[in-house]
Amino acid sequence: MEFGFELAVCQWAERHWPPDGERDSAVFVARQLGTKHRRLDTVVLECDPEGLARRARFGDRHLDSDLLGVVRHAPAEWAWYRDALPEPDYPWRYVREAVTRAADRGLVERRTRGGRVQLRRRWPYPDWVERIVAVENKPDLSASAARDLVRQLQQDVALGLADEVWVATGTDQATAALLGDGPVEAGILAVDTTDRGAGAAHTVWRPRRLAVEERGTRILDRPEGGGHDASAWRFEYASADWKKRKRLEIAERAYERGWRAYVESMRSDCRHFEMRPTTAVAQPFCPAKGHHQTTRECSGDCPSFEPEPPAWRQQGWPVEGGPGQAVERLLDRQRARHRPEPPGREERD
Ligand code: SF4
Repeated sequence: MEFGFELAVCQWAERHWPPDGERDSAVFVARQLGTKHRRLDTVVLECDPEGLARRARFGDRHLDSDLLGVVRHAPAEWAWYRDALPEPDYPWRYVREAVTRAADRGLVERRTRGGRVQLRRRWPYPDWVERIVAVENKPDLSASAARDLVRQLQQDVALGLADEVWVATGTDQATAALLGDGPVEAGILAVDTTDRGAGAAHTVWRPRRLAVEERGTRILDRPEGGGHDASAWRFEYASADWKKRKRLEIAERAYERGWRAYVESMRSDCRHFEMRPTTAVAQPFCPAKGHHQTTRECSGDCPSFEPEPPAWRQQGWPVEGGPGQAVERLLDRQRARHRPEPPGREERD
C-alpha cells in the first residue's frame, strides 16, 4: 500500500506542488534518496527554471561528489588542476582521476602540458536548486508506525537537511498525525488517492522552514523510555558545509532518477508484469499475485517469475525487448520530459 501511495504522492507533487498557492519555480520530484543514515521517501526539488536549464548542459546522469568538486571549481582559463581545485583531504591522484572522468563525460576540458594535467570549464555549474522538500509517506498510521514516524521526523528536523519536512498521509489518518507528538516543524499533507486533481492533497498543518544553512544535529541513539532504560542520547553535529554538499548530491541524484526509476529494479521482463491505471497513478500490477506488487516482491527471487515468451519479443527483439521493456521506455520518456532542453550545449560560457 505504501509503494502505491508513494507513487501517487510523487505524481501529484510533480503536477501540483506546492500544496497551497501558485507554483513559481520548476519542480522536480524523486523518491527513495538520502544519506547513509536516512532515506527520504519523496524529494521535491524547487528549482530556478533558468538554472535548471543550465544544469541540463551537464547531461542526464548525476554528478557524484568527486565530479561536483571538479565542475564547480573548474577555472574559465586553462590551469594545472592542483592550482585550480581546492586541496582535498585525500590523495591528489583521486582528484586527477575525477578530472579525467569529468573530461570523458564532456563536463570539462582537459589537456596535458609539460606533464601536468590542466583543465578548464565548459560552462559554470549553475545554482539551480532553490529548495529541497522531504515528504515521508505514511498512508497507514498504526500506533507503531506513528512511533517510528515521530522518531524519523525528529531526526529530520534536528538535522535540517531539507528546507521543509512533511508527512503525507491518508485523509482519514491526518487527524491522528496532527494529534500525535511529532515535531511542530513538520507539515502534514492529507492525500486522497481517489482523486487525481490539484485538490487530491491539502495542507492539514503547515511546516516551518528549517535552518539548512546552519549546523545540524544527527541523532544517533536515544533511550527507548521505560524504567529500565538508563541509556543516554547520542548525537553528533553535521557541519553547514557537509549539509550544503549533501543537499547538492541529493539534488543531483534526484535529477537523474526522478520518481519513475523504480521500474529498473523490478522484473519487467516477467510475463506477468503489467502497468495498470488507478485513479491516482498508473502502477505495476501482477496478475499472478492478483495485486499491485511492490519492488521488493517483484525481484530476482520472486517464486512466480516467468520469463516473457520469446514470441512477445519478436517485434524488434533483441534490440527493443518485449512489453516490459516498452513500459521502461515509456517511463523513461516521461522522466525525460521533466528535464528542460539545455541552452546551447555546444557553446562555452
Ligand atoms: S510474478 Fe513476480 S516477478 Fe513476475 S511480475 Fe509478478 S511479482 Fe513480478
